[in-house]
Amino acid sequence: TPLSHIRNFSIVAHIDHGKSTLADRLIQSTNTVADRDMKAQMLDAMDIERERGITIKANTVRIDYVADNGEAYVLNLIDTPGHVDFAYEVSRSMRAVEGSLLVVDSTQGVEAQTLANVYQAIDADHEIVPILNKIDLPAADCDRVAEQIEDVIGIDASGAIRVSAKTGIGIHETLEAIVHHLPAPKGEENADLKAMLVDSWYDSYLGVIVLVRIIDGRLKKGDRVKFVSNGTVHHVDRIGVFRPQMQVIDSLGPGEIGFLTASIKQVRDTRVGDTVTHDKKTVTPLPGFKPAQPVVFCGLFPVDSSEFEDLRDAIDKLALNDASFSFEMETSAALGFGFRCGFLGLLHLEVIRDRIEREYDIELITTAPSVVYHVYMRDGSMQELHNPADMPDLSVVDHLEEPRIKATILVPDDYLGDVLKLCQDRRGVQLDLTYAGSRAMVVYNLPLNEVVFDFYDRLKSVTKGYASFDYQLTGYQTDNLVKMSVLVNDEPVDALSMMVHRDRAETRGRAMVEKLKDLIPRHMFKIPIQAAIGGKVIARETLSAMRKDVTAKCYGGDATRKRKLLDKQKAGKKKMRQFGKVDIPQEAFISALKMD
Ligand code: GDP
Ligand code: MG
Repeated sequence: TPLSHIRNFSIVAHIDHGKSTLADRLIQSTNTVADRDMKAQMLDAMDIERERGITIKANTVRIDYVADNGEAYVLNLIDTPGHVDFAYEVSRSMRAVEGSLLVVDSTQGVEAQTLANVYQAIDADHEIVPILNKIDLPAADCDRVAEQIEDVIGIDASGAIRVSAKTGIGIHETLEAIVHHLPAPKGEENADLKAMLVDSWYDSYLGVIVLVRIIDGRLKKGDRVKFVSNGTVHHVDRIGVFRPQMQVIDSLGPGEIGFLTASIKQVRDTRVGDTVTHDKKTVTPLPGFKPAQPVVFCGLFPVDSSEFEDLRDAIDKLALNDASFSFEMETSAALGFGFRCGFLGLLHLEVIRDRIEREYDIELITTAPSVVYHVYMRDGSMQELHNPADMPDLSVVDHLEEPRIKATILVPDDYLGDVLKLCQDRRGVQLDLTYAGSRAMVVYNLPLNEVVFDFYDRLKSVTKGYASFDYQLTGYQTDNLVKMSVLVNDEPVDALSMMVHRDRAETRGRAMVEKLKDLIPRHMFKIPIQAAIGGKVIARETLSAMRKDVTAKCYGGDATRKRKLLDKQKAGKKKMRQFGKVDIPQEAFISALKMD
């Protein structure tokens, strides 16, 4: 296909505004997929994505379209993940295309992720076609939302296409707008090969599949290609495109998007954003390449310690397909053998944890998520702290720095007060407050550690689900942070230790010991529960002893009943962990750390 007849684009939207449905409709109306093979959300492949309705990996589809002018075009759609945790992947896939469809739900208006994603499209110099979706709904208010797009985003929305991705209204106009309003890609057929590595994932039959956008030159089956960032060379054994199922073709030229396979074993060897060229050639790498860095760490331990090897297997397999997920073995005095894992954010953490539990059937204890602190030592060196349990002794520490974020929250006026209070409570510093119609847009600088645990849940609950939220990391800042340890029956429970701000330590410590008192069942003896900083106890509760043995009342009585009770107790115990002489139920590890 000549460059003039290729259009590459992505769809940007806030979650649930209809991105996947629109993609389905574009695929279906161009007969890319026969009607009988069409199923909802073609591009959302992974089960968990389907269940949660979120797209995690970027996906792509090549669509043939004969426009009203009679010319045949090739349209390449890259569907990008919509969640903040995957912002880096979004920014890379944006650089692989020239335009975006901006989808806004005409019953809702602009939301935080609309903004975050459209700014990335603008950064990538995209031509943008605004689309007002869900016009079939009575609550649709196209004029208001078009005006809001102009006010808040600052792009012309007078020609916004009115669409119902559900019923198919406006789909033809959308295809025509892609052809006529989005630019054709540029590129040089006769130059040295230069391609961008847009995404990669593991396939058990084909090995690693690498999605590429050709900038210059031509990529053919049988070529030897080099990944510029690490210099590895691979023999290309297959080239193809997605329609959306794989179709093998002979070569890919400038402006095209497709995949290669080259018997690559590990996704780790293929970095998103990397430059691909022919072996022995030297090209200037594409700008701005940086591998995604995990920002949230937590420990994953099997509830049943005999499942440690199974957990190792599961984690190895998941990591094959996810280069942004990191792990190393961890031993905890309390929890035994497990793994310290790094994630791009909380959603990423949840997705991985769910997959281990569901696909591999291993019950997990998840320790408190922690951000990465920078610990500056008295001797001038710096070390990264991924686990509060590893915090060095205060006598050798000079100071600590924590990651901060810039958070953007859009919220209806009525709830603004609650949102400001929540941000203030979480040590936030307000940067901006503006209005977009009846919605307030507030920007805060917040410590990431105050956000990782339950900020998003709290935000949703204080605003009855009406707030939208997006953030980006801005850098490190020093603050008065200390490690708070928790002692149960005078034994430190390392999995419950956490970093807190000194001024909040007492409050947090008190809340924590009170919660634990409720969560830990009574034993035959008294159990002191304490929170401490260094050697100093800052909060204390005592769990009184149980009066009677559970089976005492059955003595001499019905033996089956007694066995039943004991069995029940045993089943309950499977979900408990022993700390010294005390059993702590699994849910205590999560619940005790939630603040309310
Ligand atoms: P995404 O999160 O942006 O990919 O959104 P989805 O495509 O998954 O759509 C979210 C929800 O909105 C789904 O329940 C869709 O069926 C529904 N939806 C999408 N487009 C339309 C539309 O044009 N009209 C109506 N009534 N519902 C729509
Ligand atoms: Mg979707």
